[in-house]
Amino acid sequence: MLIDNHNRRINYLRLAVTDRCNLRCNYCMPSEGINFLQSDKLFTIDELSSLSRILVDQGIDKIRITGGEPFVRKDLMRLLRFLSSLEKLNDISITTNATLIGPYIDELKVLGIRNINVSLDAINKDTFERITRRDQYETVFGNLKLLIDEDFNVRINFIVLDNQNIQDILPIMELQKYYPVSVRFLEEMPFNGGSRHFQDIHWNYKRILSHIPDHYPDYVKLPAPPTSTSINYKINGHKGTFGLIPSFSRTFCGSCNRLRISASGDLITCLYGKPVLNLRELFRGNNGEEEVREAILSAIGQRAKTGFEAQNQYHGVFQTSMTSIGG
Ligand code: SAM
Repeated sequence: MLIDNHNRRINYLRLAVTDRCNLRCNYCMPSEGINFLQSDKLFTIDELSSLSRILVDQGIDKIRITGGEPFVRKDLMRLLRFLSSLEKLNDISITTNATLIGPYIDELKVLGIRNINVSLDAINKDTFERITRRDQYETVFGNLKLLIDEDFNVRINFIVLDNQNIQDILPIMELQKYYPVSVRFLEEMPFNGGSRHFQDIHWNYKRILSHIPDHYPDYVKLPAPPTSTSINYKINGHKGTFGLIPSFSRTFCGSCNRLRISASGDLITCLYGKPVLNLRELFRGNNGEEEVREAILSAIGQRAKTGFEAQNQYHGVFQTSMTSIGG
């Protein structure tokens, strides 16, 4: 088992398989993109497989595949096939913008990969195109419909962006009214590739929640596991649920069970902290599995207690983009 220095069990890995993305969401990276990694700076699928196996042996039982856009990687399914063969891995989930997932839906079903988070910050086409700076609205909604029809466990992640998509909050709630999906509203975070600095946000989770009762006054809070980052609600008669994720307010650090590996192989023990070590370099050096295991254990023994403590390492200025970290 992986237990950190604050007695938290770490069993959830978020694995970024690329930093490349076919969208350019304006809160995630500048319009020209970032300095994307050369392919030799990415893990190969064999390396990702070995690393995952090591971590699963150490006690990780949930892996979320993220990026960049994971399906930009043509060899992604090879990794997913390997992961689905790991007996001790209980949950393989994917976070995607749903532009490229269509052709893979059948095989995902066969592999038993059912948990798909779709990032979608608009229900209106113009809002979508303004935020993503790309013309993929129909494809995304087409694939979203396919995922719902095929009974995937779909969660829609909507980042609430001041002056950009507030008018879409109530309309996107309609999705959970008519479909068995969870619509989760997230606070914006300062990981945008350095294009915008901020110390505070206008739309925190409390303000987002206070926006909902105008239309939907009768919601009840749902029980959640202690490690959940979302506060979830159900409205009587609606097929799905909705939730709030205080990703900037960071109310959930006390039960954080997560570890992140960025696209470049950085091991990140707190989203708001700097990378602790580079696993790709460690892997490609002359190190055996034992050294890799020990390095992971040592990193876990030095985790920041909260995201607020961790962010002191950045002195208030975050240069990184979520497309490298994976969210
Ligand atoms: N391409 C995939 C996708 O769109 O879901 C996975 C990678 S994306 C970086 C992962 C998540 O990070 C998305 O839900 C995205 O909305 C979120 N994200 C990116 N930049 C963010 C920011 N500055 N604040 C909050 N969330 C952000």
